[in-house]
Amino acid sequence: MPTIFAKIIRGEMPADIVYQDNLVTAFRDIQPMAPTHILIVPNESIPTMNDITEADERVMGRMMLAAKELAAQEGIAESGYRLIINCNAHGGQEVFHVHMHLLGGRPLGPMLLR
Ligand code: AMP
Repeated sequence: MPTIFAKIIRGEMPADIVYQDNLVTAFRDIQPMAPTHILIVPNESIPTMNDITEADERVMGRMMLAAKELAAQEGIAESGYRLIINCNAHGGQEVFHVHMHLLGGRPLGPMLLR
């Protein structure tokens, strides 16, 4: 079964896509937790961080570069931002297609609740 994100990448489901190239797609989170909340995903379906291999080095690097460019576009590069990749149950992963959250636009507080 394709995930929601696979459908967004293929244009089969609506999303606010802010960037797309041959390796990655970025779109706004449907339930934003900060003024900027963008998800950056590989176009290829990789379920979790546990599934990445050396063959994915290029796409994972592209996700980082896209994050940097999008942060600049959003005007949050200097104020700062947070990048998060959740994995499996303890990581709080809900959609099993690797994705990086780009969050910013306000102070984000401590990294984790104590
Ligand atoms: P995670 O908990 O890391 O798996 O995050 C999944 C994220 O996907 C959540 O922040 C959701 O709000 C977001 N999300 C789920 N469905 C959609 C959608 N159709 N479009 C955009 N974001 C979505």
